[in-house]
Amino acid sequence: METSTTRPLKIYFLPFFAQGHLIPLVNLARLVASRGQHVTIITTPSNAQTFENSISDDGAKIRVHIVNFPGKKLGLADGVENLFAASDNETAGKIHMAAHLIRPEIESLMKQNPPDVFIPDIMFTWSESTSKDLAIPRLVFNPISIFDVCMIEAIKKHPEAFESESGPYNIPGLPHPLTLPIKPSPGFARVTESIVEAEKGSHGVIVNSFAELDVGYTEYYENLTGRKVWHVGPTSLMVQKTKEETKATDSKKHECLSWLDTKQAGSVVYICFGSLCRLSDKQLLEIATGLEASKHQFLWVVHRKNDVVDNDNDTNKWLPEGFEEKMRKENRGMLIKGWAPQALILSHSAIGGFLTHCGWNALVEAISAGVPMITMPGFGDQYYNEKLVTEVHRFGVEVGAAEWSLSPYDAKKVVVGGERIEKAVKRLMGDGEIRERAKEMQEKAWRAVQEGGSSQNSLTALIDYLNMLVLVPKSAAAAAN
Ligand code: UDP
Repeated sequence: METSTTRPLKIYFLPFFAQGHLIPLVNLARLVASRGQHVTIITTPSNAQTFENSISDDGAKIRVHIVNFPGKKLGLADGVENLFAASDNETAGKIHMAAHLIRPEIESLMKQNPPDVFIPDIMFTWSESTSKDLAIPRLVFNPISIFDVCMIEAIKKHPEAFESESGPYNIPGLPHPLTLPIKPSPGFARVTESIVEAEKGSHGVIVNSFAELDVGYTEYYENLTGRKVWHVGPTSLMVQKTKEETKATDSKKHECLSWLDTKQAGSVVYICFGSLCRLSDKQLLEIATGLEASKHQFLWVVHRKNDVVDNDNDTNKWLPEGFEEKMRKENRGMLIKGWAPQALILSHSAIGGFLTHCGWNALVEAISAGVPMITMPGFGDQYYNEKLVTEVHRFGVEVGAAEWSLSPYDAKKVVVGGERIEKAVKRLMGDGEIRERAKEMQEKAWRAVQEGGSSQNSLTALIDYLNMLVLVPKSAAAAAN
């Protein structure tokens, strides 16, 4: 069968308003554009600013179409268009609402100037009926992992596994014997239900992962759902590979990278809880205590509630007395209070371990850099991602969580104690086998993004599939929706 049209495809990408969703989908758009397709990223003014620089090298290959962000209607301050700018559930709820309110403007764009294919983030649950109504084929991008979807489905199928009051809970039926230390909140099942539902009308699902990482789970997922998965990641590594080929360079250097230049290879622990988690002062204090007691060097990114609300940088409340001065004097630790260049930090040779909240992007970025992890999930799917690190592939040490949380903003009642963190840091930094396993997975990731590697082949197969969708009559494609 012929699988190629004579012209480039016109593809619209729609990233959701959160960094963990937007970064990998913009990367995917860049990759598809680098294969000669006509790509448009649809977004709002402030969200566009977050990635403008990253696509500036891509020239005319990528268009950005700006739609209005209905912030005024929702009572949001100017420029608050991304969950990174939220530090409470109410603001986050309004940003989620905005993702629904932009629907008419996007539909009108698609009517006036229809694309061949629409690739929205899975969070735009309305996109299914839009693509049906307009007879435009749709493929969703899912920023969480296939492994998570398998866990979610296995947990749903086996309520009997969670009958006892306290854990650990064994999860039956998956390719590996997995345990959860705490019971998943029933609320999480409800949240994920609508997301898993949104996959249903799609021709398949695209993920920021690579086949070798999801080994065993891709087959499980495809058998379970009957949907195809395209592994096109790690997208940041795929883009890096493309950029290398076009000889592009990164410009400004963050001061933390210069600080890391002065450190020995593998000697610094990097700590970051992603773009959304706002830990309580109590929890931050425990982390600081654990880091200090571990005696290891560290680079710690802190995003606090007050950074957003009133720029309150009073460290007295959340750091042990004299902590910052002592760390500075001993040249042992550095704090970044704001956005950090995470992908660059992780790939710096001085980084020897990563204390992470287990956001999916954090995880694939650490794998790409061959950095072993200390896992301390913050909310949602992160409790599952932890298991991929510590029980499936075993390139990390588990700290775990004291409590299941649905939201990145609500302070947990029970905090993880500093001693647990100290122990995990010491164990990871002294364990050669875990490090070795992280390096092995890194090699697999690097092979996946090379010519002929699994992710490059999957990207080719994806574009062939999109071409095939366009070759079949539009009504048939929409019927498959
Ligand atoms: N990130 C970053 N600097 C920060 C915080 C986060 O570059 O200070 C990036 C990180 O590299 C990742 C994304 O933001 O690409 C966060 O996604 P992830 O899935 O790890 O976590 P989330 O923020 O969604 O909880």
